[in-house]
Amino acid sequence: MNIPHIVIIGAGFGGLNAGRHLKNAPVRITLLDRQNYHLFQPLLYQVAIAGLLPSQIAYPLRTIFRGQKNITFQMGEATEINLEARYVRMNGSVIAYDYLIIAVGAETNFFGMDAIERGGFQVKDIQAAIKTRNHLLKMFEQASREADAEKRRAMLTFVVVGGGPTGVETAGALAELISHVMVKDFPGLNLAEARVILLEANDHLITPYPHELRHATFDLLGRKNVEILLNAKLADFNGQTVTLGDGSRIETQTLIWTAGIKGAEALDPLKVEKAGAGRVRVEPTLQLPQHPEVFVLGDAAFLTNGDGQPLPMLSTVAIQQGKATAQNIQRMINGAQPKPFYYKDPGLLATIGRNAAVARIWGVSFSGFIAWVIWVFLHIFRLVGFRNRILVFVNWAWDYIFYENQIRLITKE
Ligand SMILES: Cc1cc2nc3c(=O)[nH]c(=O)nc-3n(C[C@H](O)[C@H](O)[C@H](O)COP(=O)(O)OP(=O)(O)OC[C@H]3O[C@@H](n4cnc5c(N)ncnc54)[C@H](O)[C@@H]3O)c2cc1C
Repeated sequence: MNIPHIVIIGAGFGGLNAGRHLKNAPVRITLLDRQNYHLFQPLLYQVAIAGLLPSQIAYPLRTIFRGQKNITFQMGEATEINLEARYVRMNGSVIAYDYLIIAVGAETNFFGMDAIERGGFQVKDIQAAIKTRNHLLKMFEQASREADAEKRRAMLTFVVVGGGPTGVETAGALAELISHVMVKDFPGLNLAEARVILLEANDHLITPYPHELRHATFDLLGRKNVEILLNAKLADFNGQTVTLGDGSRIETQTLIWTAGIKGAEALDPLKVEKAGAGRVRVEPTLQLPQHPEVFVLGDAAFLTNGDGQPLPMLSTVAIQQGKATAQNIQRMINGAQPKPFYYKDPGLLATIGRNAAVARIWGVSFSGFIAWVIWVFLHIFRLVGFRNRILVFVNWAWDYIFYENQIRLITKE
């Protein structure tokens, strides 16, 4: 076949949208991912706090691309990217390409703190979120049969590290799980003893947000009884005690780490220029310098916007870059020059829990119920698959009306 072969590594927000926007192009596409599903990561924390099932935020890739004739999906890990010989190695086979789209995303960054990596919990993928959910629920079960008050308090103390949107959302949702649901499940347990502590090394929460929304977030979390410790640097966690940089200690068996991400492991062997956190520096067109046939996008790519600020690691960036890359490849196939990518900022949105969110849309900051309603509908709308949209909507409506988190299952991992 004499048509260009495009290989896309990663079917997250970037890779998925690149593939979709090449639907009518005269190309042959091979889409690789180590998972057989597309994952809606912004709702992973809901899996961790027993609010949603993994299947409600993930969708099979073969179903997504069923109607697209020019794309083939292959499940497996890309273990080698050879930029000179133009091939990708996956599951022992070699896949040659004319154009390559690297959209491998990011992974958790523990900044070399092995103890935190070993003992802490995460919400970065489905397995990690389920592990976190199981652990959280087990803590209540264990506390309910613990006679020693000190040990019980430690079991009911939950530390979330990182005051970014994920940390804020996780802490708020966890506080509500305790105050709305667990109080009913464990009537014999004094849940006034339970604590949710949010640690942030900076002197404010949600750094990319304007200051009025940072304040609103602080207030809204406070009203949900989340204890916020600013300028609090995590030094160590041994599974029983969190130690802070100033030497103070918190007795707890739960540390949820949301404080850092870095470019995915697949990027490590690439001999290309990288920025902080291992992200690959790309041209404004999203091409690799020296390799115009290779595009890097989403969390894996480092690019600054007009005012010199790095583009954030957000799904909205990855989605727009997926489309821009598809268009640029089509331009190149037609003998035209690729165009630079410009990010159209759709605004910022984070939820703190029931009836509480902060938003900045079209330059206007607001918080509270309206922001929360927008958050709910936007997230439902952005989920892949009509069935998942309906299921999540029904799930949330049920939880909202009956103050229930229905997925309170402790499962085998
Ligand atoms: C908990 C959490 C909450 C978030 N909340 C928000 C939010 O509220 N709003 C927002 O806009 N963004 C949010 N984000 C960020 C957003 O999810 C990312 O910016 C976005 O997923 C990046 O898209 P991507 O395509 O670059 O990578 P991803 O979506 O991460 O996709 C990468 C894909 O590559 C695959 N892959 C990786 N390595 C390999 C390999 N070697 N071989 C084969 N496949 C591979 C992975 O399996 C994955 O499917 C959140 C992220 C997390 C983790």
